[in-house]
Amino acid sequence: MDYRDTPEEAAFRKEVHDFIDKEAPKNMARGEGFGGSGDAWKTWVKKLSERGWVAPAWPKEYGGAGMSVMEQFIFNWEMAEARAPRPGGIATGFAGPTLIVHGTEEQKKKHLPEIVEGDVVWCQGYSEPGSGSDLASLQTRAIRDGDDYVVNGQKIWTSGGHVAKWMILLARTDPEAPKHRGITYFIADMKAPGVTVRPLINLPGTHEFNEVFFEDVRIPKENIIGEENRGWYLAQTTLSFERSNIGGAVGARQGVEDLVKLARTDAASQLKANAAIRHELVDRMVEAGVATQMSLKIISIQAKEGVAPGHEASVAKLYGTELNQRIARTALKVFGLYGQLDSKTDGVANAALYGRYKYQYLRSIANTIEGGTSEIQRNITATRGLGLPRA
Ligand SMILES: Cc1cc2nc3c(=O)[nH]c(=O)nc-3n(C[C@H](O)[C@H](O)[C@H](O)COP(=O)(O)OP(=O)(O)OC[C@H]3O[C@@H](n4cnc5c(N)ncnc54)[C@H](O)[C@@H]3O)c2cc1C
Repeated sequence: MDYRDTPEEAAFRKEVHDFIDKEAPKNMARGEGFGGSGDAWKTWVKKLSERGWVAPAWPKEYGGAGMSVMEQFIFNWEMAEARAPRPGGIATGFAGPTLIVHGTEEQKKKHLPEIVEGDVVWCQGYSEPGSGSDLASLQTRAIRDGDDYVVNGQKIWTSGGHVAKWMILLARTDPEAPKHRGITYFIADMKAPGVTVRPLINLPGTHEFNEVFFEDVRIPKENIIGEENRGWYLAQTTLSFERSNIGGAVGARQGVEDLVKLARTDAASQLKANAAIRHELVDRMVEAGVATQMSLKIISIQAKEGVAPGHEASVAKLYGTELNQRIARTALKVFGLYGQLDSKTDGVANAALYGRYKYQYLRSIANTIEGGTSEIQRNITATRGLGLPRA
């Protein structure tokens, strides 16, 4: 296998690299928050938007960049290498693609331009207190009343629900039908009367997701995407080819490189007191290399065969998110008791640095739950990858 770029790929990589070098805000930490803030962020998003790079996978006619699979892969790789922050999230990953494929002209005109400008936040109302892995069992009800639907029920773990303007909402419109066939896909206005958003604070103490309650919320029938009761099938739509998790693999390698440097130089390093840390660091380095190989395998399947990867994406998700947890555990061993400090601890040099690892340790637990748990990824791989019977 030849991993080298073709001359065209190399030219495109350089274009992306030079753009980031020139335009990306310097010293902007990752994860600035949903939608970001501040002038530097706005200018950066505008520059990306002008090139269609807020939604690289979308067709050009809708404001995307129409990138090929390989171009997207290179773009994602370079963005991750530069640790460049990205707008988009659920708006570009789920809501926009579903509208492009299944939306009416009016819906497209209303929502897509706002999304590719990168300054609107959407959230995803799928999970409910009793429905996560078994999503098709969801109970939120939408009942037709004249030209509206009246929605009652509760969503949970709604990332960014507190700052979102719109939600893609799955609700049950036919309780008599088999569970996959009675669900409709709506666009819900988060400011509509009857919508209540309550914060849920995650393990590291950050407000990231929410509970969202619907009490007699009226949604006009024009806000259905696709047909009534066909929502389950729409929910599978995605225009993103980013299943390779190259961003995650690059992030893992950078995380290990940072740690190795700190283990050698930081005053709190436990390297001298605990020689076994050396071996752990080597293991993490090897594993980060394995994660990169998995991403390369997925992208070669996509580029050559033109199909979205199946169980290979589950394997990469499973491996990458569990690796994140192992890297975080190794980091805490590197810093010993200093690893328990957080960024706000007064009077301790480097507290912000140690706080980053404490945060990663606590936050990485959710990595193996969000987007489908590790057990579900193992189930998919067991049946589709290994041909084993369902449990
Ligand atoms: C940080 C974060 C952000 C999220 N953001 C959103 C969001 O924006 N919008 C949204 O709709 N949802 C969101 N979620 C919810 C997420 O999709 C669900 O938490 C996830 O699908 C698991 O569902 P659950 O929590 O109901 O757990 P359950 O499905 O109840 O699972 C409980 C346990 O049982 C295991 N289990 C379940 N079924 C099986 C099975 N068949 N075989 C073996 N084991 C099984 C699971 O692996 C898990 O360990 C988010 C979650 C997290 C952690």
